Amino acid sequence: MADCEKITAPKEGSKVEFVNGKPKEIDDPTVVLMEGDGIGPDVVRAAVSVLEAAVAKAYEGKKKLVWFKVLAGESAIPVYKDVLPEDTLKAIEEYKIALKGPLTTPIGGGFRSLNVTLRQKFDLYACVRPVKYYDGVPSPVKNPEKVNIVVFRENVEDVYAGIEWKSGSIEANEIIEHINSKYGKNIRENSGIGIKPISAFGTKRLVRAAIKYALENNRKSVTLMHKGNIMKFTEGAFKDWGYEIAREEFANKTVTEQEVSEKFGGNTPEGKLLIKDRIADSMFQQILLRPEEYDVLATLNLNGDYISDALAAQVGGIGIAPGANIGNNAAIFEATHGSAPKYAGQDKANPSSVLLSGVMMLEFLGWKQAAKTIDDAYKKTIAQKIVTYDFARLMQGAKEVKASEFAQAIIANL
Ligand code: NAP
Repeated sequence: MADCEKITAPKEGSKVEFVNGKPKEIDDPTVVLMEGDGIGPDVVRAAVSVLEAAVAKAYEGKKKLVWFKVLAGESAIPVYKDVLPEDTLKAIEEYKIALKGPLTTPIGGGFRSLNVTLRQKFDLYACVRPVKYYDGVPSPVKNPEKVNIVVFRENVEDVYAGIEWKSGSIEANEIIEHINSKYGKNIRENSGIGIKPISAFGTKRLVRAAIKYALENNRKSVTLMHKGNIMKFTEGAFKDWGYEIAREEFANKTVTEQEVSEKFGGNTPEGKLLIKDRIADSMFQQILLRPEEYDVLATLNLNGDYISDALAAQVGGIGIAPGANIGNNAAIFEATHGSAPKYAGQDKANPSSVLLSGVMMLEFLGWKQAAKTIDDAYKKTIAQKIVTYDFARLMQGAKEVKASEFAQAIIANL
């Protein structure tokens, strides 16, 4: 990292290398750490203390995470006059693995969404959100334990690609004129315009990642969630390309729902991964009524954004939901909630989301033992009703603790 302006990489630690889209396992990975804004430093520090303790415990000092702290969000402005400094981008480019707290996007001033910029810059095409229930966490549904679903959301295409023009702009007017005159359509004057690009390439690499994950983790099914009955050439194509990749690359390991009903009397053959699809709106009903029938979901960007928060709510909300943005050459693990500025600096907010994102990072790095150690200790701590304010206000007989004390309680349970 010779050419960074204001930061120096730690001397110890090694760069993680990606081979065929997967990180090579090493003992001392350098991880780029963005504490973020608002409650970010509180929750990230609590999470880091648990991650370090679990790694030390699981590998008795043979493995170690080496943190490289960089700035992003509001906290970067006093130093760089920018919310996403070049130094930070260079650090991620070089070290490839990052853990990130929530970032405040200042309102006004022409700042783009930082998350969208990071996803596009590093081509982090899969947003992975595992949603499962921890016994004792307050939930609004009767049987939250039935939810154990991993969402693979396409992360760089769709209406989120940022290809849009304001009502009345030259570009919007030109596009409206072109479509109306050339293709005989009737888009209303002064409409705002957004483009929804969905490619075979983008769809196939996302569905491939979802199928590989399902196979590697002994999951039972992959459901393609889409609104293809209405948007045939984007969402409908996503479904078709999804089945196509299953056929082209995983024919001997997968079976479709149609094949199961036509050839196997309605029962999925032993050892086969079931590929099915559902219309997006019905999927929202399904996750409430029959969540146990769903396992891995692969979907487009906008659907994925909605369904992952809806699922997270069923198991206790975004304060606990982890997430990762994964590409073939880099990955950023992140808290899924925002910076909740009103709780900043109070050591109060729930560090679960960033901690469990850190657990995903350990699994991704191949450190499954450390990940499991935390998962077990986390379950135990919640069962002991030692929780932060957000859970305490919904649980009877809970002991409310600060973020750092919650982390200490988990460490004591490791
Ligand atoms: P928010 O920061 O997620 O906070 C909304 C509410 O959610 C909080 O007031 C709090 O509820 C609860 N909450 C969030 N995180 C929590 C935690 N760790 N522990 C306990 N409760 C938690 O959403 P926002 O207020 O709309 O956004 C604030 C800023 O964050 C904005 O600048 C936004 O752009 C940014 N943001 C960043 C990300 C990201 O970096 N990934 C994501 C979303 C938003 P109670 O008040 O009920 O306790």
